[in-house]
Amino acid sequence: MADSLPVLVVGSIVLDSIRSPYGESKAALGGSAYYFAAAASFYANVRMVACVGEDFPDEGRHFLEKRGVDVEGFVTMPGKTFAYEAEYGDDPNHRVSLRTCLNVFEKFHPVLPPLYRSTPVVFLGNIHPALQMEVLDQVDSPEHVAADTMNFWISRSREDLERLLRRVDTLFLNDSEAKELTGEKNLIRAIRRVCEFGPSTVVLKKGEHGAVLYRENTLSVVPAYPLEIVRDPTGGGDTFAGGVMGYLARAGSFDRKTFQEAMLHGTAAASFVVEEFGPKRLMQVTSERLEERLRTLRAMIAIG
Ligand code: AMP
Repeated sequence: MADSLPVLVVGSIVLDSIRSPYGESKAALGGSAYYFAAAASFYANVRMVACVGEDFPDEGRHFLEKRGVDVEGFVTMPGKTFAYEAEYGDDPNHRVSLRTCLNVFEKFHPVLPPLYRSTPVVFLGNIHPALQMEVLDQVDSPEHVAADTMNFWISRSREDLERLLRRVDTLFLNDSEAKELTGEKNLIRAIRRVCEFGPSTVVLKKGEHGAVLYRENTLSVVPAYPLEIVRDPTGGGDTFAGGVMGYLARAGSFDRKTFQEAMLHGTAAASFVVEEFGPKRLMQVTSERLEERLRTLRAMIAIG
């Protein structure tokens, strides 16, 4: 950890209420920044920029602190925490958003603590692209900037998003986001079109079908960890991004080979989240358990 590059994350911190064929959760800890930090903190020192309301449970902040996450930029504001409700049917890759109440995030304008301004690796987690930009504007010449987004922002804040993408090196997104952003139905064409917006690297998250990396004009794939039961896919993408970016920061390298290895780490981390509602399982997981899943993944892709 001492040798790893620090990672700055901005994103949502949310109380999630999720229904799936396996049950439901009510006001569980969640949000892009929370899931990201829970995974990235296995590998690197994470600095967090986010806000919550007065109703946010202490357990959430304590967990981040226990994991060594720097929470100087994590503020409590008067009002309620971002609340989100969604539902899954039989297809875990398809989520229907039922309610998105930004609450304190509507008024949040982060001021980065001085130490955060020189962070070399930046992850702009899913939140309003104008807010992602506000954070990026306060960082001095980052080495690598990655971002994630969601249909909600692609349809409502496209101009802000396009402005942001010009300054992003790596974009994480799923099939439907790639199609909506580019207007392409074919995913390979969509990936190439994403690069016309600015990013040189695209990570396409395909849920139970794994993930695709496009880097240095080359496509590579990783499978998903084989799970028989996926209770709640929420946060899987952010946890995956946390594992990927955390590993890259620890390696201090962003070349294609390191990215491929990083994708295995992201996949292993995400596999724990989706097995249970909310981040419970990820919050308890040990490095040994992560390593076991990495071994399984490596065995799955060993050919010959
Ligand atoms: P994922 O399943 O990895 O795409 O991320 C789901 C997380 O993103 C959940 O914890 C949600 O609370 C959070 N989320 C949902 N909608 C939004 C939104 N519009 N902006 C930011 N975060 C959101």
